[in-house]
Amino acid sequence: MTVEQDLTMPIDTAELHRFLSDLLGSSGVIDDPAEFARYTTDWAGDKGGDPWMIARPSTPEQVADIVAFCHRHQIPMVAQGGHSGLVGGAQPDPERGELMISLERLNRIRHLDPINFSMSVDSGCILQNVKDAAEEADCYFPLALGAQGSCQIGGNVSTNAGGLNVLRYGMMRQLVLGLEVVLPDGRLWNGMHALHKDNRGYDLKQLFIGAEGTLGIVTGAVLKLAPRPQTSRTALIAVPDIASALALYAQARRSCCDLLSAFELIPRVCMELAFEAAPDLPDPLDEAHPVYVLMEVSASGPADLDTMIEHLFETGSEQENVLDGVLASSETQAAQLWQIRESMLEGQQMRGEHLRTDISLPISSLTAFCDAANQAMAQRSPETQVIAYGHIGDGNLHFNLLPPANLDLEAKKALLHELEEVLFDIVDAHHGSISAEHGIGRVKQVPFLEDLGETEYTLLKGLKHLFDPEGLMTAGRILPR
Ligand SMILES: Cc1cc2nc3c(=O)[nH]c(=O)nc-3n(C[C@H](O)[C@H](O)[C@H](O)COP(=O)(O)OP(=O)(O)OC[C@H]3O[C@@H](n4cnc5c(N)ncnc54)[C@H](O)[C@@H]3O)c2cc1C
Repeated sequence: MTVEQDLTMPIDTAELHRFLSDLLGSSGVIDDPAEFARYTTDWAGDKGGDPWMIARPSTPEQVADIVAFCHRHQIPMVAQGGHSGLVGGAQPDPERGELMISLERLNRIRHLDPINFSMSVDSGCILQNVKDAAEEADCYFPLALGAQGSCQIGGNVSTNAGGLNVLRYGMMRQLVLGLEVVLPDGRLWNGMHALHKDNRGYDLKQLFIGAEGTLGIVTGAVLKLAPRPQTSRTALIAVPDIASALALYAQARRSCCDLLSAFELIPRVCMELAFEAAPDLPDPLDEAHPVYVLMEVSASGPADLDTMIEHLFETGSEQENVLDGVLASSETQAAQLWQIRESMLEGQQMRGEHLRTDISLPISSLTAFCDAANQAMAQRSPETQVIAYGHIGDGNLHFNLLPPANLDLEAKKALLHELEEVLFDIVDAHHGSISAEHGIGRVKQVPFLEDLGETEYTLLKGLKHLFDPEGLMTAGRILPR
């Protein structure tokens, strides 16, 4: 038997364990199913299958060695970052024992350059730690999202994460200058350029951003920084309806000198959910109103933000787009307003089975879309509660549904599935997207494929085949295996 034939032989659990523990030491391998739960059950409580084993490399070279070994022995792999993705991408495929490659120990901040406004990091760095390190150098890494205490840079890259500051700073695609990636055959591609301008042919790094780990495992990234904001103001504004919220948004972008960094829609029903989860949170205004926007303006130098927001209040009131509002007078009050936004998610989670969506539309189509979607939901299931909130400054809505409490679990699932199909048809009719931020993973695969044209499908399949002809790398996410 030749060596090559031997290398492509399937291997057993003991051999895989021996290889991994020789490479990573015993703390770098988890093979006891009793320790799998943290890696298989996500933030929302959704559970994937069990992995064959979990490898925890701590250097890019170790990742490359593991992937090369898997490639030789045809072992399917799945990359996992902070496991906050919510579409089942990082969860092991229940139908085949994948080797999970967890990046949690690959977590060094490599270099920060405050003059180039860039920072290179290992992909397993937790987003919050990256933000803190940038701040220490009087810089700012603007990606901000609810899971920032657990999600990792590699996960953010692979999902092209968005969050609260997209309207000012862009999504992850706009925040990455360079990448280092282990390709599905184990080659380590070094594209860790710290260039703000680079037009040398195809931009390979963009292929890996948003690829959900299907084309390679990201091991490092060069991130683009901004100057650290020195002042910021947060305001909660009550508006009559979504159309007024959008009119106010367009006005705020213009009259706040392009310093608007967040603009969130919070209907009253969502605020009530926040109070259920955090009963000590004060109701910010004397009277309840149907819809609110939570906005933030920030500047890295001296700027009269109060006057800007007061002017916005005044003109917004004159045009009947503003009913009432509060401008946070302290950091504590601003934090409380933002806590409403965060607690809504917990309140929704506390209600049990529900439909989460992550759609986007052209901003100017949001009113027509919401009218059509609300009407369709009310017709099909009047007792289902619509919870539609989100980053409307980016056209991104979480149009979520809480089914009637009196249904059993199976009936709830069936109803939500039916309503999701109706909803996605309406998204389609308004030229929107069924995934603005979280990606496709395994959960959104069916509606994603249904909507793909043949040319697009052929190109996407060809791309996957080019990088991973054997279909070993985080396969079955985005495209079917
Ligand atoms: C409370 C909450 C709020 C959220 N808010 C937002 C929001 O505002 N905006 C937003 O965009 N998202 C949001 N998310 C979703 C989630 O936080 C993001 O998608 C995040 O970028 C995922 O990062 P992660 O490290 O947790 O990735 P994981 O969940 O571990 O993985 C996600 C996908 O990327 C792949 N992957 C992970 N690491 C790597 C790597 N190093 N190389 C290659 N592939 C990899 C995985 O295989 C998987 O397919 C939220 C989630 C929660 C729980």
